Amino acid sequence: MQSILDTITATMALRTQRGRVADYIPQLASVDPNQFGIAVVLPDGQMFSAGCADKLFSIQSISKVFTLTMALGKIGDAVWSHVGREPSGDPFNSIVQLEHEGGKPRNPFINAGAIAIVDAIMMGHQPKETLAEILQFLRFVANDESIFIDDKVAQSELLHRDRNASLAHFMASFGRIKHSVDHVLGTYFHQCAITMSCQQLANAGQFLVSDGMNLSTGIRVVSPQRARRINSLMLMCGHYDGSGEFAYRVGLPGKSGVGGGILAIAPGNASIAVWSPGLDSIGNSKLGTEALEMLVQHTGWSIFGH
Ligand code: GLU
Repeated sequence: MQSILDTITATMALRTQRGRVADYIPQLASVDPNQFGIAVVLPDGQMFSAGCADKLFSIQSISKVFTLTMALGKIGDAVWSHVGREPSGDPFNSIVQLEHEGGKPRNPFINAGAIAIVDAIMMGHQPKETLAEILQFLRFVANDESIFIDDKVAQSELLHRDRNASLAHFMASFGRIKHSVDHVLGTYFHQCAITMSCQQLANAGQFLVSDGMNLSTGIRVVSPQRARRINSLMLMCGHYDGSGEFAYRVGLPGKSGVGGGILAIAPGNASIAVWSPGLDSIGNSKLGTEALEMLVQHTGWSIFGH
């Protein structure tokens, strides 16, 4: 495995077309695009990594996998009255579909859906309490107490909140947001500003590899059925309107973030985190996707076979 990761990293270092870093907030626009990291954790907890796999980056929308998991734990299938589970086919921050579907977001991974999920997990609590819970959950699944929120990124998201605020207010106009819109948004921005390395993220994804159980800690996080369903949502909706392309090229459940990270799950085989800040035109990591494509070619881990 180490030699595969070294080969992938060496190949990525030669790439001149690295995509464009997200520029909707200055904190992301200033990240050096010439960085690449990858970490793979096998079901027994053994980790392999290459490149800057220990460098911290903004996980952004990858956090949505964990808030969905929390929401399912708190309210079970009632989650599906807040969000749907169909691919959107629209950009991550699109508002158009909401108007046609009574303000209900198509899935929990587009921005509107993730904002609705935050509203669902707040359950009358203050943003600070909900955020503490989200952070605690991530630390628990990653088995790592050092994970934190980058407040500068969160403040920057808040300053440039117009689109996400529009989504939240639009949903509220349909009676779909139960808490203060400002509280929900503040919580969402901080959740997006969680900072992790590929190594930490790959650890955090372990429960989705082994039927809901983290085999290296021996702790069950979710039921097998729930793990399977979270994986299916990641496959269908984890890359926004690039989800079909990702399934075609990589063939793994995955969730991307505009910070350039991707968490990919090879059920039964590995939890994989890859990071390269340059994005393709849809907002998914360009080299991250290429690296995962190479990885499945070498390992045969695509859920669709070789
Ligand atoms: N913080 C980003 C936003 O809300 C998350 C989007 C993403 O990572 O894809 O615009």
